[in-house]
Amino acid sequence: MKKYDKLIFELSRPGRTGYQLPADNYGVDALSEIPADLLRKNAPELPEVNEMDVVRHYTNLSNKNFGVDTGFYPLGSCTMKYNPKINEEIAAMPEFASLHPLQPAETAQGALELYYNLQQALASISGLAEFTLNPYAGAHGELTGLMVMRQYHISRGDTKRTKVIVPDTAHGTNPASAMVAGLEVVEVKSKPNGSIDVEDLRPLLDDSVAGIMMTNPNTVGMFETEILEIADLVHKAGGLLYYDGANLNPLLGKVRPGDMGFDIMHINLHKTFSTPHGGGGPGAGPVGVAAHLVDLLPNPRVRKGDDGRFHVDTDDRSLGNVSTFFGNFGVLMKAYAYILSLGRDNIRNVGPMATLNANYIKESLKDLYKLPIEGVCKHEFVFDGLADKSTGVTTLNVAKRLLDFGFHAPTIYFPLLFHESMMIEPTETESLETLDEFIDVMRRVAREAAEDPDMVKAAPVTTEISHPDETGAAKNPVLSYRQLKANAK
Ligand SMILES: *Cc1c(COP(=O)(O)O)cnc(C)c1O
Repeated sequence: MKKYDKLIFELSRPGRTGYQLPADNYGVDALSEIPADLLRKNAPELPEVNEMDVVRHYTNLSNKNFGVDTGFYPLGSCTMKYNPKINEEIAAMPEFASLHPLQPAETAQGALELYYNLQQALASISGLAEFTLNPYAGAHGELTGLMVMRQYHISRGDTKRTKVIVPDTAHGTNPASAMVAGLEVVEVKSKPNGSIDVEDLRPLLDDSVAGIMMTNPNTVGMFETEILEIADLVHKAGGLLYYDGANLNPLLGKVRPGDMGFDIMHINLHKTFSTPHGGGGPGAGPVGVAAHLVDLLPNPRVRKGDDGRFHVDTDDRSLGNVSTFFGNFGVLMKAYAYILSLGRDNIRNVGPMATLNANYIKESLKDLYKLPIEGVCKHEFVFDGLADKSTGVTTLNVAKRLLDFGFHAPTIYFPLLFHESMMIEPTETESLETLDEFIDVMRRVAREAAEDPDMVKAAPVTTEISHPDETGAAKNPVLSYRQLKANAK
């Protein structure tokens, strides 16, 4: 093991320090001594290392990261597009970054204007009346949107509407958010082509239904062509339609969820509107609603007065606060910078290019990988493992082998519709050359699976670790050095 691959505690040597103020500073007064009663009695259990070792340790660790800035990242559903660096520069502008959330609105007009303009832009892009930018992530947006849905029925005295219909292909956060919002989940089946089975939906629509959660294109990347009929059925039954905006990317500027009949939606700004994500955030999950639901949006609200000044409101009919202040403001700034740097015309190109890239990969590989759903996909698609299953090489094996060639693996074993799901989303930001390299490697792995399946099963061989005990890591995680030492005893 290389020195800096060790745990920082293993680099520790008793008495070694990072930095200590000198006693004699050429006569300049040093900091006064810390009073004795404030000094700790026992030494902290911290690694004793010098500054250079710390810098080398963490710099070496950071080089082991894989990110969209280091390579192709076709992780389906996650929209790992390239995030332009101008977004970061703008989000770091001290005029915004050093604002205090409690300072008077009159002194933060620029930030409020940005918030207001962004919510207007999102409303225009999605065809809904108004947005709140307060939720912190997609799942938080789902919860907020479902609280709006629930509040809407309660405010009309329609209290028996407690069920939310969720497709069997849905992302796990959908049923989870419904449960947290105090609603009951009812599953609707998909047809073999992955779209909602309208005949299965019909009998579920009674007066206990609060609404339906959907995404379009759906989880397998296909456009729900029966969406207008579904919207009509749900509305006639007194329910609302919730749109999971994680799949908004292919529709940007082309098709609007509001026009499809959706009443409530969230947008994952960190996916569609380019903020680095993965590893837990931070993200942002703005929620938009149709005109009849605007009053229920969470507090605080940013409004523009007749005099052109911006102010912060709290509304009585609102469902309350879902976050402290105005959400992850830095992420909102990145999304705003991204939208303004593209402009309306280029935003319209995002969806078609993402769609073209996905279809190009799909068509170039479908002779070697099993394509369960034929036809034009949107921004992503699903293979059901290798076409030739006789080699015993699984989706997990292929995913791990890809790491040897410097590609991030696709999303695997989701959706649950197929046994060997491999969900590929290239996004619009990748060049033809990168797509071709990926296709070449995928074809090579399929060939290797036929010729030398054991070699593929042993992959990856170029990474730091190869086959970690994933179940053990989840069930008995070792999260501190103290725990590691205790386990070793
Ligand atoms: C990512 C994703 C979510 C959850 O969003 P977070 O921002 O990660 O909380 C919900 N639904 C779908 C389809 C997603 O891809």
